[in-house]
Amino acid sequence: MKVCKFGGTSMATPESIRQVESIIKSDPERKYVVVSAPGKRFKGDTKVTDLLYAAAAEKERYGVAGASIEEIRDRFVTLARDLGLETDIDSYIDEIEEGINNAQTADYAASRGEYLSAIILAEKLGFKFVDAAEIIKFKFDGTFDAETTNDLVKALKDIEGGVVIPGFYGRMPDKSIKTFSRGGSDVTGAIIARGVDAEIYENWTDVNGFMVTDPTVVKNPRQMSVLSYEELRELSYMGAGVLHPESIFPLKGSGIPINIRNTFEPENPGTLILPDTSGCPRASIVTGIAGRKGNTTISLKKAMMNTELGFGRKVLSVLERYGISFEHMPTGIDTMSIVIADKVLNGIEQAVLDDIKGKVNPDSIEVLHNLALIAVVGHGMANQIGTAAKIFTALFESGVNVRMIDQGSSEMNIIIGVEEKDYEKAIQAIYYAFFD
Ligand code: ADP
Ligand code: ASP
Ligand code: MG
Repeated sequence: MKVCKFGGTSMATPESIRQVESIIKSDPERKYVVVSAPGKRFKGDTKVTDLLYAAAAEKERYGVAGASIEEIRDRFVTLARDLGLETDIDSYIDEIEEGINNAQTADYAASRGEYLSAIILAEKLGFKFVDAAEIIKFKFDGTFDAETTNDLVKALKDIEGGVVIPGFYGRMPDKSIKTFSRGGSDVTGAIIARGVDAEIYENWTDVNGFMVTDPTVVKNPRQMSVLSYEELRELSYMGAGVLHPESIFPLKGSGIPINIRNTFEPENPGTLILPDTSGCPRASIVTGIAGRKGNTTISLKKAMMNTELGFGRKVLSVLERYGISFEHMPTGIDTMSIVIADKVLNGIEQAVLDDIKGKVNPDSIEVLHNLALIAVVGHGMANQIGTAAKIFTALFESGVNVRMIDQGSSEMNIIIGVEEKDYEKAIQAIYYAFFD
């Protein structure tokens, strides 16, 4: 049987929800359904999750939540009415408003979009609603409790008929609600797929699958027919927004395939993500290109750095003390660079630099802001002569200045740092070097 997760755009309007219903009803194997909160209905619209965070912020600021609650009420009341449902949405919204106004956390507020979305879809389908708080569990330290969760999810197999489960959240041991990071309904879908031992995890969204690169940067990029778990991890971590970067962890070991599908074009087979793609023919040695802006590089120079025992450890111990995780660390003989996301350094950058200076006394320390990282990913790149040359020739010919290069030891990715202003140009140049 299949687990299907429907994203925010799929749950945004009465028409899209009817489309979701028709997809589920067209295959009796589609028994477990995970949903996101209603997303944007049109360009410039606000996602329900963002309205809920805004309601929590209103409460924080003014003592009570106000305008945002009414917008949320309006969206859900309209949905339920247009779908001909009987559920008393108003009383649910009253309860949520009361919860937000009575010291519930922002996580609780944010989770209510998925909660109501699932209640609505369950009634529309005639499926059973199962609250994620009852089956998705976190430990005292806030980390996901895979074992307890897996046992609870397994028990869903005893339920007759279909089940709808809200994505994005679960429950802490103290009974409070905790969410995954943004986009986390993808993770819930993967957890359910593993727990019920699904034959496939279908992830229904608003594009025809995983494209070679971000369709907002390259017009009509090619669609991938397959990619591997590992390639998915690299691409989604580096910014390909289709799937949450943590979606594959629950599936590791189980080997359950993920199929990205388009709710608005269900006849398209989409993209298949498999644990091992070694037998699959590939159109290009490069599988995908992804990237993200907002990084800082700290570059250290010191003569004879390579012989100074403990140099790297001392630098990294400073980062550890500030709770900073870094993205990349390209090194030379007398140089070491550390790439860190801007948001992590916010407000503490000077203190970190001072500390590093004090610890290792470098000849120079240089900071470069506004760096965009671009990852070129593909199993086919390993042992393939000329891939890097092709990438750097394309960047050179487009006038893009490369500020950093890092190649993972697996040789399935090359990471390139460019100035943010060159980001789009660089992605386009690399894309057209391998695909035309
Ligand atoms: P959902 O709400 O269904 O979870 P998301 O907005 O999270 O959907 O993810 C789908 C979006 O990801 C697409 O609409 C597209 O704009 C964006 N995206 C970014 N990179 C890619 C890519 N490489 N391939 C396809 N879509 C991408
Ligand atoms: N609704 C949540 C978000 O907007 C989770 C999700 O859509 O997966 O981040
Ligand atoms: Mg998503």
